[in-house]
Amino acid sequence: MNLKDSVTAIKGVGAKRAELLEKLNIRTVEDLLMCFPRRYEDRRKAVTIMEAPFNQDVLLEVKVVRKQIVGGRMKLLKVLVEDNTGNLEMLFFNAKFLANLFRPGDELTLFGKITLNKNRRQMSHPEFHKTGSEDDIRGLFPVYPLTEGLSQHQMRTMQMAVRSAAWQMEEWLPEEIVEKYRLCDPAYAIENIHFPLAEESVKQGRYRLVFEELLTLQTGLFYIKNNKERGEKGVAADPAVSVQPFLDRLPFKLTEGQARAYAQIEKDLISEKPMNRLVQGDVGSGKTAVAQLAMYKTVKSGFQAVMMAPTELLAKQHIATLKRDFEPLGVRCRLLSSSTKAKERAEILTALEAGEIDVLVGTHAIIQPDVIFRNLGLVITDEQHRFGVNQRTLLAGKGQNPNILVMTATPIPRTLAVILYGDLDISIIDTLPAGRKPIRTFLRYQDSRKKIYDFVETQVKEGRQAYVVAPLIEESEVIDCKSADEIHKELCAQYPGLRIGLVHGAMKQAEKDAVMEAFAGGQIDVLVSTVVIEVGIDVGNATVMVIENCERFGLAQLHQLRGRVGRSGHQSYCILISGSDGEVARKRNEIMCSTEDGFTIAEEDLKLRGPGELFGTRQHGLPELNISDLVQHVDILDKVRFVARDIIDADPKLEAPQHQVLKERVKRMFGEKIELRL
Ligand code: ADP
Ligand code: MG
Repeated sequence: MNLKDSVTAIKGVGAKRAELLEKLNIRTVEDLLMCFPRRYEDRRKAVTIMEAPFNQDVLLEVKVVRKQIVGGRMKLLKVLVEDNTGNLEMLFFNAKFLANLFRPGDELTLFGKITLNKNRRQMSHPEFHKTGSEDDIRGLFPVYPLTEGLSQHQMRTMQMAVRSAAWQMEEWLPEEIVEKYRLCDPAYAIENIHFPLAEESVKQGRYRLVFEELLTLQTGLFYIKNNKERGEKGVAADPAVSVQPFLDRLPFKLTEGQARAYAQIEKDLISEKPMNRLVQGDVGSGKTAVAQLAMYKTVKSGFQAVMMAPTELLAKQHIATLKRDFEPLGVRCRLLSSSTKAKERAEILTALEAGEIDVLVGTHAIIQPDVIFRNLGLVITDEQHRFGVNQRTLLAGKGQNPNILVMTATPIPRTLAVILYGDLDISIIDTLPAGRKPIRTFLRYQDSRKKIYDFVETQVKEGRQAYVVAPLIEESEVIDCKSADEIHKELCAQYPGLRIGLVHGAMKQAEKDAVMEAFAGGQIDVLVSTVVIEVGIDVGNATVMVIENCERFGLAQLHQLRGRVGRSGHQSYCILISGSDGEVARKRNEIMCSTEDGFTIAEEDLKLRGPGELFGTRQHGLPELNISDLVQHVDILDKVRFVARDIIDADPKLEAPQHQVLKERVKRMFGEKIELRL
């Protein structure tokens, strides 16, 4: 059998089976070998009948005691077996033909689940093997991804049938890489991943295969990025334009992180190559000022800028800041959102097209086709993780290769950011403005709520404000957990002296905005809410963040919430009220109380929850991975990045003969999804 043969060359595989395999993207013998097990069933160690857990697959060594056929039309074969701890009944329905197989005294190995029925241990249709016969059911068993109509057993049988073809796989990675990273031979890797002998050899094999897959991914991403960069000319800002007038107006000095990020941005802006940059900075690190610098530079070079925020409230906050800082400098700013009245909207659109507006701020309303710019030079999206790549592209389409700046506070470990935003350059603002006092974080339990809210009252009496956040509760949930609504009622009753506001998801946008504005304006002391309190909201006078039932939030989310306070010189507090004192909850809270570093927290969060939940990998359009896990294999990813970089630098189009297999693999991995002119 040949690697390139169709699967139909395998004995027993016909057109119908081939169709099923096609669903798993398996067409050739090689494809089949490259379909890796998700995990292994460990059937190496037998347990005794009495110590075996119920309802879990177990391996048993037993002796047949007796058998019996019962029932009417649907014959049931019962076989009683025992070991020296106890006995159980094997049940085979409608399988009279098996009866002759079992004789008292026969020694068997069984694999299956034990259930308890009227105090009797039973096992229905276990896999079994008679001691001494050939086909063994012991060992490490691969568990494959399947599709309906295909069984594990069939998959394993097919793998067995193509086993020898694995040895046709040749080394395709350059020798120095194989040596440097101590990779095993590809054939050995494939052999061991499908037919594991020992954990050690599986590990070696898997290391090689993960390395291959991540290398393919990373090379593909670099290739795409490279290709983009060599694309058309974009907008270039005027190098002679100074941002000093804007800096002079800022009430503060830039932090080192801000200055560094802007320096990188400025370099991009004045070059003709379109900028594609992600600015990542923890909550409160001052990303807005950096964005403003970029806008100022662009506008004073004669172009327009647009800034998109995920919510109306954030857009409003931005326009207020921009008007305050920019209007005295002659930069004309306007807000366009879905609640902009038709008449005003029409007026804005006309002015925009005429070039009488320099900076447009808005929500996704600004993506609409009738929003036309005269000469768009810069596109900024704030809190980018809330926007899809598509929206970014649509907005960019409103100009001629405008510069793109993406801002996010979602702290993503750098290695992952490189993968997820593979097409973007990254600037990180890793310093917080000076004079900020670290937020003091405490963990408390339900019995201290009175004390906590008394403390909130004291803070309000000193002139400060507070947030109280409650988890979102589904109606169907029966749990010991208070809703924002209940907490609001309770606090109103207990603290009549406080002005307490409420924001929750069911309220209309306009109502929410009104409450948030009242809070920002200081007419509300305590704001009770579900997590609708927006990302990015900036109320410097708020110094207390109380989070009820903190165990129901992800760590990254808790960190974002905590970032709402500690934004001024006042000492700020974050009080986590836990409804659980389990091990995981304790570990999480410990992390929250011990660090304020978003990156550390993100890494821990990743470990606890996996990457999917944090950023919905699918949404980012990354190709599917068969064997690697971006979190678990992050250290391999780190190594692979250098290898891929070297390969793409030396051979940007993957034309060299030694890169042909890699090129094939990249093509195969990215398929039609990503335009890849190879
Ligand atoms: P984020 O990065 O979370 O978007 P913002 O841009 O909203 O942060 O900034 C948070 C607060 O810090 C704002 O009130 C802003 O005026 C202030 N700020 C920004 N940069 C500095 C700085 N260099 N020094 C002092 N305060 C700053
Ligand atoms: Mg912000």
